[in-house]
Amino acid sequence: MFGLIGHLTSLEHAQNVAKQLGYPEYHEQGLDFWCSAPPQIVDDIKVTSLTGETITGKYVESCFLPEMLTQRRIKAAVRKVLNAMAHAQKAEIDITALGGFSSIVFENFNLENNRQVRNVELDFRRFTTGNTHTAYIICQQVELAAQQLGMDLAQSTIAVCGATGDIGSGVCRWLNENTSVEELLLVARTQERLEALQLELGRGKILPMEDALSQADIIVWVASLPKGIEISPDQIKKPCLIIDGGYPKNFDSQLQHPDIWILKGGIVEHSLDIEWTIMEMVNMDAPNRQLFACFAESMLLEFEKWYTNFSWGRNQITVPKMKQIGEASHKHGFQPLLL
Ligand code: NDP
Repeated sequence: MFGLIGHLTSLEHAQNVAKQLGYPEYHEQGLDFWCSAPPQIVDDIKVTSLTGETITGKYVESCFLPEMLTQRRIKAAVRKVLNAMAHAQKAEIDITALGGFSSIVFENFNLENNRQVRNVELDFRRFTTGNTHTAYIICQQVELAAQQLGMDLAQSTIAVCGATGDIGSGVCRWLNENTSVEELLLVARTQERLEALQLELGRGKILPMEDALSQADIIVWVASLPKGIEISPDQIKKPCLIIDGGYPKNFDSQLQHPDIWILKGGIVEHSLDIEWTIMEMVNMDAPNRQLFACFAESMLLEFEKWYTNFSWGRNQITVPKMKQIGEASHKHGFQPLLL
């Protein structure tokens, strides 16, 4: 059985979903209440592969909210992730994806050192960040959406915002090794990590965000911002394809301009309907078919019986592993969301 650990995008979003799911006591409460709320299994899932095989899974709502990423609440954020993992393990789930900020909190706060959660000793082999599949899908979106728009990668400049992150560095490795992209712009805040990535790739121009946005034909946005950013169309080169891989989505769909295309990044479409309700809660356009690529990774590991933390740690995503998960993705009927 596979599992998905997820969270909602804001307190307001969580309150609305709680109402829809029939938890009025959660609907009326503020952040303090959510900080003390335990994880819950709120969905049973059935997915059928193109091969005909059907697997089952569970969705674990961690009750983490991005508003908890402040000095004052960070202990609650850490508790949410660990408790959700322990809950998944107690439910005997074989392989569980740590969605959205769960894996970022896990890594940034070195939760590998917090293996014991009350009476559960976490077995990290039962968890995956899902980032290898996410990075693979984002790269497919770059290549295929560029084709849709008639953009030639050999004459395109791609800015990767969040280049030194787990997903961002995987995307850079792929673009470097597998495409003929003309120029790679590397954007993040920490200079040393940018320089290390540039050295590893043997290419790439390190630029401040504003400069990169004004020079890029394609922007891959994988910076881990807990809420949206305000960018005006004037700051962006036109035409431009923006692939927003953030969760929550960082680009406002209001950023409307006839020469700017915003594609939801890291989202896959399954070829067959999935039996679940949770994707309605996160406002997917086609909730029976569309899902986050990191969630799909745990489904793929279950289909293939690769019970291992396929994506783990930071900045270890390799091109061969992206190809491996990519092959499984096609085999079982997942496709990247396109324009
Ligand atoms: P990481 O924490 O590993 O990387 C984040 C990157 O963003 C780093 O390069 C970081 O570098 C950079 N960054 C952070 N803040 C800023 C800023 N203000 N300006 C510029 N750069 C910044 O994150 P992940 O790679 O794990 O995840 C990235 C995004 O993808 C998140 O939004 C996450 O929720 C989403 N995601 C989506 C999935 C999907 O299935 N669609 C699956 C998993 C994650 P520095 O700190 O030096 O600035």
